[in-house]
Amino acid sequence: MWIRMRMRIENKALVLRRVPFRDTSWIVTLLTPGFGVVSAVARAARLGGRDGARGALTGFHLLEVELRARTEEALGTLSRVEILEARNRLPFMATATAAGQVLIEAVHRFEMPGDARGGEVFACLDSSLEALEAEVEPLVVVAGALGRLLGLFGHGWRVRDCVGCGRRERLRFFSVRRGGAVCEPCGLPYAHRLPEASASLLRALSDRSWPPAMIGLSREEMALLYRLGMAGLARIGTQELSADGTFRRLAGLDGFQEIKGYAS
Ligand SMILES: [Zn+2]
Repeated sequence: MWIRMRMRIENKALVLRRVPFRDTSWIVTLLTPGFGVVSAVARAARLGGRDGARGALTGFHLLEVELRARTEEALGTLSRVEILEARNRLPFMATATAAGQVLIEAVHRFEMPGDARGGEVFACLDSSLEALEAEVEPLVVVAGALGRLLGLFGHGWRVRDCVGCGRRERLRFFSVRRGGAVCEPCGLPYAHRLPEASASLLRALSDRSWPPAMIGLSREEMALLYRLGMAGLARIGTQELSADGTFRRLAGLDGFQEIKGYAS
């Protein structure tokens, strides 16, 4: 007997991407806490859609969605979308918008379809967008979230001891290539190309809580934390995120310490 499987998914969701499909629709890529990344056709959404789907799918809102598909593999249809938590101010704050786009792009690049990771990636992205909507300093939000995401993607930093010799004392530099702290003796010969890591920066890098405290970090250290996050993403095999340049310019980070070649 042949049973045609029908799938129905109901979950919270954040929009990662919209691509025009046919004349009036979008294919939307969504991040859900229960099912990871899923894609679906939002029929006629570009015309406005049923119950204001266009508005719901544009921007950074926390959504509740229902998806239907004939089989597990088939591209489903978005049968219902509703805004659970509106984020109406965020699109009008340029730096916060760019920060949100950096994080959405990072998640879109590295989160695999169906890979839910217990909803932790979703929780990180959702609470970051919530913080940006609440006007928390975008650099703090994005720098903290990038570190958290790197950890969730399995590429967290090693900062309790030196990546060169294992020593736990006199940690002073950071190696992007090795993904961790470097002690003074190991790092001094390369001091011209290794970023310096203060005690407060190392503390922030080792902070596994969410949201991270980031107490005592200067703006420059926060900028370095952001750059280390970006460099960490580049290290796990991708080109730079396209929203990175926009965010750096708007957040005024271009004057801060460069991480040369992302390779030190
Ligand atoms: Zn060492």
